[in-house]
Amino acid sequence: QAKQLGKNRCQLFDIELDHRLRGQYETLTRLKQALEQDEFRLFYQPKVNLHTGQVMGFEALIRWQHPERGLLAPALFLPALDQHPLEVEVSHWVLRTALAQAASWKAQGHDWTVSVNICAQHLQQPGFADQLEEYLHQFPGLTGQDIELEILESSILGDIQQASRVIRQCQRLNVRFALDDFGTGYSSLAYLKQLPTHWIKIDQGFVRDMLNDQDDLAILQGIMGLAQAFEREVIAEGVETFAHAKALFALGCLYAQGYGIARPMPVDQVTDWVLGWQAQPWSFH
Ligand code: C2E
Ligand code: MG
Ligand code: MG
Ligand code: MG
Repeated sequence: QAKQLGKNRCQLFDIELDHRLRGQYETLTRLKQALEQDEFRLFYQPKVNLHTGQVMGFEALIRWQHPERGLLAPALFLPALDQHPLEVEVSHWVLRTALAQAASWKAQGHDWTVSVNICAQHLQQPGFADQLEEYLHQFPGLTGQDIELEILESSILGDIQQASRVIRQCQRLNVRFALDDFGTGYSSLAYLKQLPTHWIKIDQGFVRDMLNDQDDLAILQGIMGLAQAFEREVIAEGVETFAHAKALFALGCLYAQGYGIARPMPVDQVTDWVLGWQAQPWSFH
């Protein structure tokens, strides 16, 4: 009896597992198709200097223009790619598309940097820096200074040594890195110490309630102190209001990105947005 029950339970479990795996398989097949059929899009969110009000550049953020379901946020499909070889293929598409955009803006006389989120799996591919150099060469006039790479500290996956080596190799191409979502990983301080990134990007989780949460404010002050000691530049993400920007600037944070400045937008809206911003920028003295 008990054995029978156990067996049934086991079967039940297998059916669930089967459904899950089948679902994952179908999602991956669909994502592969999306790449082949050119359904991914990059949206661009500005980064500004709070002192001068200048537009520094844009972060490229992936979207999936799904034929039936509409525009999908990365949280809805990136997790399905986690650790799958297709994740690297998508990341290559993002990198090449963002470099093409950076080259095009540069050719139009803009000096905006384009930031690209690089997943750990892509960064850890053998020859990452050589590949990047090759990509840069494919766009005449584009140099390493025109792009930045954002890496999630929570995705470095243990091999800090290798990540650090790759960062150094890319630095020879004058490509700068940002430690993204800083403060949310399990060992932020170890990453800060061992990864020579130019930027620290403060996670929006600390910014959101900074105006009324003393603990978040204390953490932000601490991050600013660390950044100074380690000689890193700081940008805050999730800057939703003018008051946030003002308070961040008062803490010594010179750069900001967030809905209060602009939401991520399709590339054809960028020049109009810039004109509007330049007419009325946020700049603190
Ligand atoms: P992230 O790199 O930390 O990017 C910032 C995310 O915060 C973006 O979400 C952006 O739309 C959102 N955001 C910006 N300002 C505000 C704000 O003021 N308030 C709030 N509530 N949110 C704000 P998005 O575009 O949904 O991207 C989510 C994450 O997905 C990104 O976080 C990044 O980790 C990942 N991601 C996006 N595109 C790519 C990509 O091309 N490659 C890789 N590997 N990851 C990507
Ligand atoms: Mg990012
Ligand atoms: Mg971030
Ligand atoms: Mg974030």
